[in-house]
Amino acid sequence: MNCPRCDVALDEKKYKDIDIDHCPQCKGLWLDFHELDQLEDHAMDEDDSKGMIEYARRESDISCPHCNEVMETFNYRAHDLPIDHCKNEHGYWLDEGEEKKVLEIMRQRIKDLKRSSSAQESWAKFLERGGTRSFLTKVKDLFSG
Ligand SMILES: [Zn+2]
Ligand SMILES: [Zn+2]
Repeated sequence: MNCPRCDVALDEKKYKDIDIDHCPQCKGLWLDFHELDQLEDHAMDEDDSKGMIEYARRESDISCPHCNEVMETFNYRAHDLPIDHCKNEHGYWLDEGEEKKVLEIMRQRIKDLKRSSSAQESWAKFLERGGTRSFLTKVKDLFSG
């Protein structure tokens, strides 16, 4: 398989247990269709927070290295990170550095998830404490009244 940008043969490299084809010249990456999902699996375990979310689809300037059809570009998770993908579901093309940005976005989302669940916890604790306090106030009221 050749690089859709520079037409040189792609090298295979392993990231965790995922085979990724990478271009020795432009350092772009080819991920087979399900590999981006696998990549997300490594970065997050909450089922409902992973999965491809695509925004702002438009025609790409490169063609799929599998079927040669013009690819489609979309923004990954509404971030300013364009990713090209094959409409025939062959895979994704990430330009140099984009895979790191994908991982950064995923890590950021995990942090956000943790932050919002800890915010929910402290809110629950606050309500609990509030409830206890008003209960104590009622008891005090009973004795003072
Ligand atoms: Zn290349
Ligand atoms: Zn294709």
